[in-house]
Amino acid sequence: MAILTVQNLTKRFGGLVALNRLSLEVEERAIHSIIGPNGSGKTTFFNCVTGFYKPEEGEIIFQGVPINGLTPDQINRLGIARTYQNIRLFANMTALENVLVGMHPRLKSTWVGAVLNTPYTQEEEKQAVKRAQEILHFVGLKGKGDFLARNLPYGDQRRLEVARALASSPKLLLLDEPMAGMNPRETMEMMSLIRRLRDELGITIILIEHQMRAVMGISERVTVLDYGEKIAEGTPQEIQNNPRVIEAYLGTSKAVADVTR
Ligand code: ADP
Ligand code: MG
Repeated sequence: MAILTVQNLTKRFGGLVALNRLSLEVEERAIHSIIGPNGSGKTTFFNCVTGFYKPEEGEIIFQGVPINGLTPDQINRLGIARTYQNIRLFANMTALENVLVGMHPRLKSTWVGAVLNTPYTQEEEKQAVKRAQEILHFVGLKGKGDFLARNLPYGDQRRLEVARALASSPKLLLLDEPMAGMNPRETMEMMSLIRRLRDELGITIILIEHQMRAVMGISERVTVLDYGEKIAEGTPQEIQNNPRVIEAYLGTSKAVADVTR
């Protein structure tokens, strides 16, 4: 069963074709990676799926529902959340507050309730804080809820981004280079967190990542983009042995060594 089906997706910026008739199916509960050189359209794909960019052509279907033309907020409510290639946290808010912000669209209280501080609002806020703490615990930030986001070490900030995305209770989570700039230990921890998101929470993951060993170690399926086109798709093993991939993307001997090591 596909949770996400994309058909003939095209996104242009002026004369540049960032995505060229891209078709893709993501199986429910998969960890599906998207790789490709810089500028090959990976982040643009996420921006189209989450409603930040309007594609010129193509269909995006989530759980059987076409989501083209919906706003980012509407798409988030349907169950798609993301993290960003460049960390986007509220630096001067605490870790807990960052997660609460991610939860906001789900909270039912109106601003009237918030102003009047009704019992309903108070109870809802209590529940929200409890859940935010559980989420922080899940991603490995237990006890760090009161830290300002900007004071957290880099690896923890990346984890907090995941926590914020989890706050909206997604069924599909798009992770844009969550291991970028991480040391080997942080990378291992992020890999195990991604596995737990799928295994324990049942969330389907689409992962954009450059660290090949992580991609190959964690994914059931890998799609390779080059100049906005899909040039290969398959299991990690099939991708590693695909001559077109080796030529287009893994062109250097070092990259090949990274993958095959
Ligand atoms: P990747 O994430 O694979 O590195 P991107 O999706 O960020 O690649 O970019 C794909 C291409 O689209 C690049 O050539 C990039 O410069 C271009 N692009 C992305 N977003 C915009 C934008 N908002 N305006 C103009 N060009 C863009
Ligand atoms: Mg990118």
